[in-house]
Amino acid sequence: MLTVSNYHYIRENFDAPFLSIFGVTPKLFEKQLLLLKKTGTFIHPNDLISNPDKIIKSKQNYILITFDDGLKEQFELAKPILDQLKIPALFFVNSINHIEKKVSLVHKIHLLRSQMSPSKLLSTFAAAGPKFIIALSTLEKRKAILHYNYDNEESAYLKYILNFKLNIAEQSKLIDSIFDHFFNEKKVIETLYMAENQLTILAKEGMLGSHTHSHMALGLLEPELIEDELSKTKHYLKQLTNTNIVSISYPYGSIEACAKPVSELAQSLEYTIGFTMERGINTGDENKLLLKRFDCNDLPGGKNEKFFKDEYSFIYK
Ligand SMILES: [Zn+2]
Repeated sequence: MLTVSNYHYIRENFDAPFLSIFGVTPKLFEKQLLLLKKTGTFIHPNDLISNPDKIIKSKQNYILITFDDGLKEQFELAKPILDQLKIPALFFVNSINHIEKKVSLVHKIHLLRSQMSPSKLLSTFAAAGPKFIIALSTLEKRKAILHYNYDNEESAYLKYILNFKLNIAEQSKLIDSIFDHFFNEKKVIETLYMAENQLTILAKEGMLGSHTHSHMALGLLEPELIEDELSKTKHYLKQLTNTNIVSISYPYGSIEACAKPVSELAQSLEYTIGFTMERGINTGDENKLLLKRFDCNDLPGGKNEKFFKDEYSFIYK
C-alpha cells in the first residue's frame, strides 16, 4: 500500500498581519517524518514510477513525501532535513512562474490576504466597478461558512466570492492590479519560487514532477486548455533538465479539479503517475493517474491526525 503525505509552505515563521498562509515549520516537518517512519518505509519516486503495482499492492506500507507549488522554502528548508534523514521526496512545480515570470494567482491571493483584511480586500474589489460590488445572499453566506469551515466568517465570504462568484479572468483582473500595488512581482518570483538550478538538482535526483503550467482547477477547463496546462510544464522541464517528467499533481486535487477528461489527457501526454487530494491510503484498485494523498495535517503529528489514527490504526507498528 501507498500512503502519500503532501506539503506546501515550510517556514520558520508564519507571522503576518492577517492569517492566510498556513504550513509547517522545519521542526514540525522533521518531527512528522520521524513519526511517519514508525508506520512504514519511505520510497523514492522512481521506485513508484518503475513498478507502481508492486508498491501499491504490497502488504507493506510505503510512504511517499510530496510538495506542491515549487516553493523555494521547500528546497532550502525541507530538502536538507530530508537529505539528512535519507528520505526521498517528489516536488511538483508550476511552469508559469518560470516561463512567464508570473506569480500564480493562488499565491497572489495568499499574499494579499496576509496583508489586508477580507473586508478591505472586498472594498478594493468594489472600487474596480459596479460589477464587482458583490453581496452574498443569506443562503450563500451559509454555504460559504459550511464550505470554508476552518476560516472565520469574513474570510469564508471572501473565499466564496473569489471562487464561486468570479471567473478566473475576473479574479485575475482584480487581484493583479491590487497585487502590483503592494508587491514587486519580480522580487516575489525570486524569493517565493525555486530557482532553475534547484529544479535541475531535483530532476537529477529523480524528484521533480509537474503541477501544471498555471495552477488552475483543470477539471473546470475546456479539453484544449487542459492539454495546454499539462504539456507546457512537461516541455519546459524537459528542456531545462533534460529529463522526462512523468508524474503530476493536479492543482487543488478536488473531485471537480480532477474530473474527466483530466487523467485521460494526462495519460495521453505520457504522464504515468498522478496525484489528487482525495484522502486515503492507496491499496491497489486505484487509477495510477488518480492516486490518493493526505494533507500533512491529516497524518500522525498533524493538526487533524485523529481521523487517521482511528481509521488506520492497523498501520502502526
Ligand atoms: Zn498547488
